[in-house]
Amino acid sequence: MNNEVKLLSMPHNALAVPLHVGRPNIGDQTILMERIQAIFDGNWLTNDGPLVREFEQRVADLVGVRHCIAMCNGTVALEIAIRAVGLKGEVIVPSYTFVATAHALQWQEITPVFCDVDPQTQNLDPTQVERLITPRTSGIIGVHLWGRPCDVAALEEIAERRNLALMFDAAHAFGCSHEGKMIGSFGRCEVFSFHATKFVHCGEGGAIVTDDDELADKVRLMRNFGFSGYDNVVYLGTNGKMNELNAAVGLSSLEGMPQFIDTNQRNYACYEEAILELPGLRLLEYPKQERQNYQYVVVDVDPSICPLSRDQLVQILHAHNVLARRYFFPGVHRMEPYCSFYPNAGLLLPVTEQLANRVLVLPTGTSVTAEDIDAIGSIFAWAAENAGELRERLARTVPQGESFDAEVSA
Ligand SMILES: *Cc1c(COP(=O)(O)O)cnc(C)c1O
Repeated sequence: MNNEVKLLSMPHNALAVPLHVGRPNIGDQTILMERIQAIFDGNWLTNDGPLVREFEQRVADLVGVRHCIAMCNGTVALEIAIRAVGLKGEVIVPSYTFVATAHALQWQEITPVFCDVDPQTQNLDPTQVERLITPRTSGIIGVHLWGRPCDVAALEEIAERRNLALMFDAAHAFGCSHEGKMIGSFGRCEVFSFHATKFVHCGEGGAIVTDDDELADKVRLMRNFGFSGYDNVVYLGTNGKMNELNAAVGLSSLEGMPQFIDTNQRNYACYEEAILELPGLRLLEYPKQERQNYQYVVVDVDPSICPLSRDQLVQILHAHNVLARRYFFPGVHRMEPYCSFYPNAGLLLPVTEQLANRVLVLPTGTSVTAEDIDAIGSIFAWAAENAGELRERLARTVPQGESFDAEVSA
């Protein structure tokens, strides 16, 4: 333990093993190994193999859509969806999201126009969306942040009236519902990520889900270089294929879903108690009448009540091996290339800036136990008791803002 860490931590109460945000939920490993053995026995590693098809079928059934087209990752799925839907010019997106939402547009020279979010839902604010529409606007990409649905009805109404395409980045929202309908079934299409940090994952993976037959055909061609049968390329395409090994991981992860939800819900309930130990912490709530994956434990740190700032709290938690994260810090509009393109974007994004400076995400998932969360509760209690002293130590030892960098993974 270095000095800085010692100064910030309670005696004898760091967690023995670091707790990460987004440690993978692994399903039954015996079945997984059998599937992997079968892949090598069958010598079919990629190109629309049987496990990819099974994965697609199960995802489509679960979401209740006609088509699921699996991809190598969520970002490529977004890029292909954006191209297949025909977005161009400007597209309205939130800045309070993972950077891939904007990159998938900019990568194909489409301008992401950053829209502020509603402070309650933390999702696109439909009133602001309407104000940002210009003659160049071709569409809207909503993000169901933390698995909580966008205001789908309001966005649909705007898209219809202004003749814009509407699609969703549903990377956080697998297994979640909105007004009784599964997320994945809204807009022209929706995109899931099955990255290792997501609720259900393939290691790396993604998918486009849609009820639109024509769009699904286009997406399938684009995913495989535009090949329509042997030697016949009919379309501009790329390589977005998911392989059999990733599909095997995905199938086992899908089978583990009920257990992952139970664990996440239990952890969430433990955190409801733990956060009471430090004034000014509030847990983001999930709609109880909907299906939810509880994959993100999102805490709002109210600077007018909490005796420690969000960043100080993150440093203290890190000193105890609790690797809490600032999400989505500092906001996509403050990252390159966007901050150079639009240095004043923040002026139109006050809620985004506030959230990026207040929100903290705590570890959950199958590798986090109720005891771990109890221990985090005692760290909060200790931090509350020693807040004055901790603030002084932090001021002395750690130059503010330099102690940890925004990490690049979701
Ligand atoms: C994870 C994530 C992505 C990107 O998915 P990958 O599978 O990692 O490429 C896109 N958007 C959001 C909101 C995400 O959280």
